[in-house]
Amino acid sequence: MQKDTLVVRENGEHRSTAPHVLPIYATSSFVFEDSSQGIDIFKNIESGHVYSRYANPTVDSVADKIALLEGYGSNLTPYAVMTSSGMAAISTLLMGVLKAGDKVLTQGDLYGGTTELLKSILGNFGVETVFTDLKDLAGTELMLRTEENIRMLYCETPSNPVLACYDIAALASLAHQYGALCAVDNTFATPLLQQPLVLGADFVIHSTTKYLNGHGNSIAGVVVGSDRALMRAGVWKAMKLAGTNCSPFEAWLTANGMKTLSLRMERHCSNAMKIATFLSEHPAVERVNYPGLPSHPDYELAARQMSGGFGGMLSFELKAGMEGAIRCMDSLGLCTLAPTLGDVDTLILHPASSSHLAVPREIRMENGITDGLIRVSVGIENPDDLIADLDQAIRK
Ligand SMILES: *Cc1c(COP(=O)(O)O)cnc(C)c1O
Repeated sequence: MQKDTLVVRENGEHRSTAPHVLPIYATSSFVFEDSSQGIDIFKNIESGHVYSRYANPTVDSVADKIALLEGYGSNLTPYAVMTSSGMAAISTLLMGVLKAGDKVLTQGDLYGGTTELLKSILGNFGVETVFTDLKDLAGTELMLRTEENIRMLYCETPSNPVLACYDIAALASLAHQYGALCAVDNTFATPLLQQPLVLGADFVIHSTTKYLNGHGNSIAGVVVGSDRALMRAGVWKAMKLAGTNCSPFEAWLTANGMKTLSLRMERHCSNAMKIATFLSEHPAVERVNYPGLPSHPDYELAARQMSGGFGGMLSFELKAGMEGAIRCMDSLGLCTLAPTLGDVDTLILHPASSSHLAVPREIRMENGITDGLIRVSVGIENPDDLIADLDQAIRK
């Protein structure tokens, strides 16, 4: 071997005992021992990796862990596919199981990107979306009965930014009764607090960008399904062919972050409960939206379908309206103004002037997104520091 060949060759000899911590498989393809093994792997007779757009050991390791968490404690054996973002998880799921002529039945208060995807992209491919109030189970059933070709009921709970909760078990059962699939965006709750597949849903999606990673340093997503065959033939195939695969580096960051998920969620939940209680007693605050407060309209449902806590997201409305909300936001010292959520530090957002700026005011108001509403992704800092920061800012 000449030097100019040597520099090109993979030097595999350093591979010794198994690594303790998940390594990043930064490789686009995998080597076959001989051509017959290659054929068997391609035919799925032998398991093994081929090409990292199809599957990658680092990515698979994280997907398998999320599948275990979503099915935990049940007799389900879910299958998960990681994607390049939460939006990629949603688009891959829809591409993988829907076809032109199918309809999606969903709520009005979805994550903004999801609404836009349904309206302005899926519509072009002949998949129509029907928006309804999924809290109204009788109305939802009427829709399923009268609208033809509803193939998927898509729900997000708790929802953004007023933390409305929807009854997963009831919606999944209604969907199945009328031959539709049920998918749930479980990003806000995480599988530690809520397991939609166990409640009867067919699919769960996550933006792992948020709580699952928790450290705000990666963009990735996952689709988890209880029917392995449908996941392989629908979702995995769509991921492979649309190229919405997760990068091994992003998966690795997610794997690292997930190790502390349980500790973080405990603290997110207890901090959020303390802050929600403090805000609900504050004279300058009109209303607090937190499903863990008995005053929240969906408290009983949340207590029934979530376990271990009510999550780290809350929102509150200042009596001082738009101007007061902006003044409060600009007076915060500890809480960071950022348009994401689920990170270890406390993040704050004013929906009316940011995420919902494009939404007409009447529609915003109808959905509880008032001018004075502030959304908080409560972090894991000391709760007393957070309360002191919020208090001084609200007083301004
Ligand atoms: C952020 C988010 C998404 C989109 O995820 P990305 O990783 O940003 O693509 C979808 N659903 C919910 C509830 C989210 O918060």
